[in-house]
Formats: sequence, structure tokens, C-alpha cells
Amino acid sequence: RSKDTGGNAHFTYEPALHAHAEERRQLEFSLRHALERNEFTVVYQPVVDAQNESVVSFEALLRWTSKDHGFVSPAKFIPLAEDTRLIVPIGEWVLQQACSEAMNWPDHVRVAVNVSGEQLLDQNFTSTVVTALAQSGLPARRLEVEVTESIFLRDATLARSALEQVMALGCGVALDDFGTGYSSLGYLRKLRFSTIKVDRSFVQGAATGNPESLAIIRAVVAMADSLDMSTTAEGAETEKEVEMIRKLGCRKIQGYFFGRPMPAEDAEALFRNPVYLGKHNAA
Ligand code: C2E
Ligand code: MG
Ligand code: MG
Ligand code: MG
Repeated sequence: RSKDTGGNAHFTYEPALHAHAEERRQLEFSLRHALERNEFTVVYQPVVDAQNESVVSFEALLRWTSKDHGFVSPAKFIPLAEDTRLIVPIGEWVLQQACSEAMNWPDHVRVAVNVSGEQLLDQNFTSTVVTALAQSGLPARRLEVEVTESIFLRDATLARSALEQVMALGCGVALDDFGTGYSSLGYLRKLRFSTIKVDRSFVQGAATGNPESLAIIRAVVAMADSLDMSTTAEGAETEKEVEMIRKLGCRKIQGYFFGRPMPAEDAEALFRNPVYLGKHNAA
């Protein structure tokens, strides 16, 4: 449309800027009411054991279908929810939902829930975890909290103490998107993470023979192994990537090759009617 108006730069440029701010304002308005309007759902993506391909956990991923805007990508609404601190009540809802839905899976299958810095640094964070576990009946060992390195940029001491409290409850803590942000190895010495998640960019790089990606995955796996932490390779889409990851010694794999994020009913059905994921999955 902007092309058709041609010639008048003033006419085309300013409304575009305005439209962007206006869209954000409207999204924010809708986001404020999304919880009470029941517009959120949680979908679950399987994480498999790299050796035997059995499902060891699911990552809970939030989805928003707005009555006003339709489906909105997490890449769009999560940052907005963080900026407005709406992620605090929304994240609390995700925790409760994920813990109660995980109760329908076998006892050895864990659930991983993403937690933003704003949530983690909120003074009530630990008690929201305690409440979600108590109300659902989920044992703490079955919950893994996923955080990114960025949480250490704001208030490293407070972030560390919040994570220590969560660990003291018996929950796991995974370090998400490892290698993409501010990577300081200092906190790996101080905090006993259950899992390091190797970002998809390295997985893709390794499979295309990028020597730096290969070296980094090798180093991360060696470090995690010696620190007694597990590793998950994120975003494996092809058989080639899966083979490469396996060869590099990552312990767990998550990615479209084994399964896309799915509704809770479908995740549950995987255990009632066992099917093999990935290459064995005739589809
Ligand atoms: P993340 O925690 O790193 O989650 C993994 C993302 O990679 C998910 O995107 C997932 O759908 C996608 N993914 C998984 N396998 C593949 C693959 O094989 N190929 C490709 N191309 N992508 C794959 P999603 O669901 O769009 O979520 C994006 C991000 O939004 C998440 O990244 C996480 O940072 C954030 N997020 C999602 N749900 C929540 C939530 O409940 N709370 C918070 N605080 N953040 C969330
Ligand atoms: Mg994650
Ligand atoms: Mg990730
Ligand atoms: Mg990632």
C-alpha cells in the first residue's frame, strides 16, 4: 500500500511509524485482558534421550490467540509482557498450568517452564513455584525452570539467590539458549544447573560443517559432563543434525525432527498410544 501512494515521503513514512506504536498500544491493551479472557494456552514440545529417543521431558511453551488480533507470535508478545511486567501474572499461570498438565504424564517425565528475569527477580517467585507444586501435586524433581544468561545482567546476586531457592525445593534449573548471550562461566561454578541447552544456531552450524559451531558444542558438552550437568541440543530439524548432535555427545535432543510443540491432550496421548518420534514415525 505504501508503494501506491508513491512520491509523498512525508505521507508514507509518518503513518508507518505511528501505525507501529499504535499496534503496540493495542496489543498491550489486549494483553492486559488476555488472562481473564482465557486467551492463553500452553503447548508442549518433547525432549528425547539422544541415545534411545524416549521422551524424557516436555518444554511448556505459551501460545496467545487474541480475540482482537488472532494468533500472536511469542517473539512479539513475550517481550511486550516483559516490558509491562505482565509476564509476572502470566508466568504464574503458565507454571500452574504446566504443573497440573504434567500430572497426566508418567512419573519419570519432567516439565520445563521458561521463566523471564522479571519473574525470577520478583520477590514472590519462589512462593509461586511452591504454590504451583502444592496445588498440582507435582513432585519438585519433575519441574525444571529454564532461564537465559541475561538474568545475570540485571542483578546477578538476586538472580543467583532466587535460583538457589528453586534448587533447594528440588527443582532443576536449565540454562537456555546457551552461547547466544552474555556468557560468563563464573556462574557455572556457583550454580548447579541441571541442564545446559545448546542454542539452535550451533546445532545448525555443526550440521553444515561450521568448525566454530562444532568446537563450541564439543567444549560445552565436555564442560557440562565434567560439572555433572546434562546437555540438550535445541532445534534439531533434520536427521543429519540429529546424527551430528549424537556424535558430539549431547545427552538430550529437542526439535521439530522429534516433535513440534503440541496441545496437552496430544502430549498425554503419546504415553497412552506409544509411537516412536522422529525417523521411526511413519507420517
Ligand atoms: P525457547 O525457550 O528457546 O524455546 C524454544 C523455541 O524454539 C520455541 O519457540 C520452539 O517452538 C522453537 N523450536 C523448537 N524446535 C525447533 C526446531 O526444530 N526448529 C525451529 N525453527 N524452532 C524450534 P516459541 O514457542 O516460539 O518460543 C519462543 C521463545 O519465547 C522461547 O524460546 C522462550 O524464550 C519464550 N517463551 C515461550 N513460552 C514462554 C513462557 O511461558 N514464559 C516465558 N517467560 N517465555 C516463553
Ligand atoms: Mg526454553
Ligand atoms: Mg531455548
Ligand atoms: Mg533458542
